[in-house]
Amino acid sequence: MTSSRGRGGEDQAVGVGPRRLPPQPQLIAGLDIGGTKALAVLADSEGRILAQKRLATGHRGAEGLLATVTRAVLALADLGGVDARSIAAVGIGVPGLVDPGTGQLRHAVNLGVGDESVDLAGPVARLIDGPATVANDTNLAALGALPQFPGVSDLAYLSLGTGVAVGLVLGGEMHPGTRGMAGEIGHVPVDRHGEICECGQRGCLETVVSGAAIARRWPPSGDDGTGPTEALLAAAADGDARAIAVRDELCEHVATAVALVAQLVDPDLVVLGGGVAEAGAPLLEGVRVVLRRRAGVSPLLGALGLAERVAIVPAGVPVGALGAVRAASGALTS
Ligand SMILES: [Zn+2]
Repeated sequence: MTSSRGRGGEDQAVGVGPRRLPPQPQLIAGLDIGGTKALAVLADSEGRILAQKRLATGHRGAEGLLATVTRAVLALADLGGVDARSIAAVGIGVPGLVDPGTGQLRHAVNLGVGDESVDLAGPVARLIDGPATVANDTNLAALGALPQFPGVSDLAYLSLGTGVAVGLVLGGEMHPGTRGMAGEIGHVPVDRHGEICECGQRGCLETVVSGAAIARRWPPSGDDGTGPTEALLAAAADGDARAIAVRDELCEHVATAVALVAQLVDPDLVVLGGGVAEAGAPLLEGVRVVLRRRAGVSPLLGALGLAERVAIVPAGVPVGALGAVRAASGALTS
């Protein structure tokens, strides 16, 4: 970044030489690509959102993914009233393994990308004539959540969505791990009497706290747009005995996931995110009740203060896309 401040009063020069225009904000695009839909935001380098666009993910496989990404960048340029080359940098979050060294994507199962390596950054960089950054969506969501919690530099983002995974930001920087595998805890077994998981094991975390797991235990009724977790928590609050049992089991398992991450990494904060976390305050409170109860029987856990170190993504903040903006901004200034 350049600044004209403190350079011998150049800012004060009036009527001498070419007229100075105010600095133009740099446009950064942040894309959060999911299995069925994508959210694209156009932001300035401070992360302020100027425009956003939702798209269906469309065709699967590497070519389909690249087509979605291209469509998203062009749509943002259109919304911003600029040419794609006026976008200074693009950040892309994808649900898959991203090699931290090369930025190549593999194993984005929900996007139909298998073992082949996909270069998304190269074609996008040519489209905008600027840097493009690709990273795992959960890691980017952790980065995007960070500014929501001032004073925090070590943050773990526990994504409770279609899958279950953790994104880590340590010392203000993403920590994807040497192979991009850090935080893949969805397939840690937590219930040896539980359901068989798609991965072949029994009782994985993903079989008890993912959105699909909750929908199996509390099937959505009607089509009023209420998510299964919100419907479950509302029924429990109304005193439905079965809903209370399902809620209590859910909160136990989410609390276990929080404890797993907190006791392994010891971050300032564990932030709940993903579709399940859209249930908001009632979910957070339910998890805190469990963590407080466990702290009450164990002085060691009490000293960790986990109930005070768990938080939830504020409603309506697109942390995945904002994290992509932040990573792309970093690529511009590095
Ligand atoms: Zn599994």
